[in-house]
Amino acid sequence: MNLKDMLRTNFDLCIVGSGPAGIIIALEYTRSNPDKQILLIEYGYPGQKSKNTLDDSIQVQNIVNHHNPYECTNKGLGGSSISWGGRCVMYDEVDFIDRPSISGGCTWDINLFNEVKTYIPQTAVYFECGDPIFNLNDIPKFKDKKIAENFKEGIITDSSVERWSMPTRFGQRYEKELANCPNLTLLQGYEARDFAVPDENNYISSLVLRNVIDKRLLEVKAKNFILAAGAQETTRILLRNTQLFNSLDNVPPALGKYYQGHLSGKIASVNFYGNPKKTEYGFLRNLDGTYIRRRFQFASKYLVENDLLNTAIWLDNPLYYNPKHKSGAMSFMYLAMITPILGKKLAPPAIAYALTKGKVKGIHKHVWNIIKDLPESFVKPAAIFYKRYCVKRKLPGVFLFSPKNSYALHFHSEQIPYAENRMELGPDNESLIIHYKLTDTDVNSVIKLHDTLDKWLRACNCGKLQYWFEKDELPDVIKQISKDGIHQSGTTRIADSPTQGVVDRDLKLWGTKNVFVCSSSVFPTSGQANPTFFLGAFAIRLANYLK
Ligand SMILES: Cc1cc2nc3c(=O)[nH]c(=O)nc-3n(C[C@H](O)[C@H](O)[C@H](O)COP(=O)(O)OP(=O)(O)OC[C@H]3O[C@@H](n4cnc5c(N)ncnc54)[C@H](O)[C@@H]3O)c2cc1C
Repeated sequence: MNLKDMLRTNFDLCIVGSGPAGIIIALEYTRSNPDKQILLIEYGYPGQKSKNTLDDSIQVQNIVNHHNPYECTNKGLGGSSISWGGRCVMYDEVDFIDRPSISGGCTWDINLFNEVKTYIPQTAVYFECGDPIFNLNDIPKFKDKKIAENFKEGIITDSSVERWSMPTRFGQRYEKELANCPNLTLLQGYEARDFAVPDENNYISSLVLRNVIDKRLLEVKAKNFILAAGAQETTRILLRNTQLFNSLDNVPPALGKYYQGHLSGKIASVNFYGNPKKTEYGFLRNLDGTYIRRRFQFASKYLVENDLLNTAIWLDNPLYYNPKHKSGAMSFMYLAMITPILGKKLAPPAIAYALTKGKVKGIHKHVWNIIKDLPESFVKPAAIFYKRYCVKRKLPGVFLFSPKNSYALHFHSEQIPYAENRMELGPDNESLIIHYKLTDTDVNSVIKLHDTLDKWLRACNCGKLQYWFEKDELPDVIKQISKDGIHQSGTTRIADSPTQGVVDRDLKLWGTKNVFVCSSSVFPTSGQANPTFFLGAFAIRLANYLK
């Protein structure tokens, strides 16, 4: 459709943002409504440089615990799936149960969870992560195996898995399918700016867009609008467009607040007692070739009874940057990661940071590790390089066997919804200021759950934890090492009233009849799960709702 026709059309649906959420809704809705006209608007455009005005106008107040804006999102068709890792994880029952430390912040419920789960099979197809089974006990091939000898499931489980996408780059993967939809118009290089004032029935009729290059404005009309611009940009658009809430007494007080990510890092190793060869430390492969991986998780009942936050802990390599690991292969990979230009090609900055912690340390010791381990120092990385970069379904990560049966433990933990963690507009009403910190409740839960794991492993005669720091140092250490900003949730949360949240359970913006939000910003709790897979299920559900 040319620009002139576009301006004349009253679209049935206008979607802002072409990340995984926007693309899934566009395809689902377009295919099942061939007689309807859909407009998909994307800020990024082909050939755009990474520098952009959106990221340039974000101020992160805490750069210790939050990545800089350029590391948190990407612009362009496919959104941040351009650099995402592809880890697909399910939310858990406990994420829908209020606990004292969540203090009323769990504004969704288990019924919604059960309903959204019915869209999981279709979601897994979009994410190309195989059959959506997230528990090994349900897969005959793996059902009788354990993470390590003697492990028993109880308050701690080892059968929950993360599944891995290709990783699917939604732009590349679905570009042709989008282009083949005759009733879909994709408009790239336009920024969604200002919604019209709602009419007397709370319907919004149009949205002003701004050309990213020449800044010219144009107005598009639609019967329904969906904001799928990623958590931070969706929140910013709403903070700027408070006229959308004219029918309410106030702008929903939760807008921009309760920003959450995950606490993540390593503070201990596990030493298993049994046969090292029986430890399932790495990826398992499904019959269809998809990669899956075990993680320790904690039973919902245990977390609720003990008022703890949902956490996953998985086996990991020792710290790459510390040459004490003595592995030539790890030293070689570490040196490759910290090499300018090459490092950036191997992994996006946020993922590279998770491995190297941005440290350039003990180079000569790393070189010595490489020399001592020859030829393994090169052979292993070469095999990994091939599996990670040269085949269609990529090896999602690198986990090395430990002959000593000792592995670092990587935690990935829920944060409480805390009102002071928030996104707000700067005095220019344009820039976005991000306030983000870890609370003592967040940190203490991580420590207690490590303790629980230690006791459980000892009780099973399976192993024990070895802490890397003194116990009294742990809170400060966790506050120093944990960094997020790539899993954004909470700032436009779902709730049953506008005094508690920003959208209702159908993702409709409180105060309007035809504006919806589809972003992980609607998730009131962050759980242990990376958010994108579950967001995909919400996207399919919303497309169905609008049918
Ligand atoms: C390095 C990295 C690794 C990650 N790994 C994982 C992982 O393993 N598992 C996981 O679950 N998640 C992961 N994530 C998070 C994941 O990428 C996001 O959750 C996901 O992309 C969100 O999808 P979305 O469609 O909501 O938003 P996005 O993917 O952010 O897409 C939003 C789109 O909207 C566009 N846009 C923004 N503002 C406007 C505007 N005003 N007008 C028009 N268009 C606009 C943007 O240009 C963008 O293309 C990772 C993220 C990063 C950065």
